[in-house]
Amino acid sequence: MPKPFNPMTVAQFLTAVSKFNWTVTKTEVHVHCTDTPNHKDFRQKGGLACVESMHGFHTRPKSQGGRGWSDIAQHVSIDPDGIIWTGRAWNRSPASALGHNGSHVFMFEMIGLFDTGKDPFGGAQEQAAYHVTAAVLDLFGVSATDGVKFHNQFTSGKTCPGSALKRPDFVANVKDVMDGGISSMAMDLPPAAEAAPDRPEFLKSVDSLLEELDQREDDGVIDDGELDHTLIPTS
Ligand SMILES: [Zn+2]
Repeated sequence: MPKPFNPMTVAQFLTAVSKFNWTVTKTEVHVHCTDTPNHKDFRQKGGLACVESMHGFHTRPKSQGGRGWSDIAQHVSIDPDGIIWTGRAWNRSPASALGHNGSHVFMFEMIGLFDTGKDPFGGAQEQAAYHVTAAVLDLFGVSATDGVKFHNQFTSGKTCPGSALKRPDFVANVKDVMDGGISSMAMDLPPAAEAAPDRPEFLKSVDSLLEELDQREDDGVIDDGELDHTLIPTS
């Protein structure tokens, strides 16, 4: 069974970051796109199924075609509606880029493929990405210029988070959010009710989210792996 995954609005994420029991200092935020699942998969299956499929692929034994990691690779996943899904324990190292992992890294995946001509990068998903990055860097006093790392900075073999995204633009947008102040960060974003009007149970309280995040304890394993992004079969 996949470990539980919970959706958060940006406002909830900002609160969770400020209240979370951090035992490590995050000095880098690694930015990835999933490739698959992509926006079409998300529209067909929904966010939870996309996250659970990634968890399954990441934790399945290598002998069964998986990656053999101890949990889903990423700390959070950002879906095309700008909802942020919980992932592995935040104090742990992610499985982000081989040789560049460590507990100082906070890593997220944006559901989609952002190579030129593929999924559009915009709207609530784009804004959520800037706010997630800004919240973590702001908490630890790291500048956007120093802290934002694209996956493609670590490898020449991948365009991730996509050839349509330019790091200087991403950094400038994160800096704008940070300059605006944390308290005003989520002002322009849809409130929880609009995120899932037909599912009142969709969003948990931040306190119960934090409780579950605390329970997702550090088991001491460093999954020094590399995300491939292209191996999850679509169905
Ligand atoms: Zn990547």
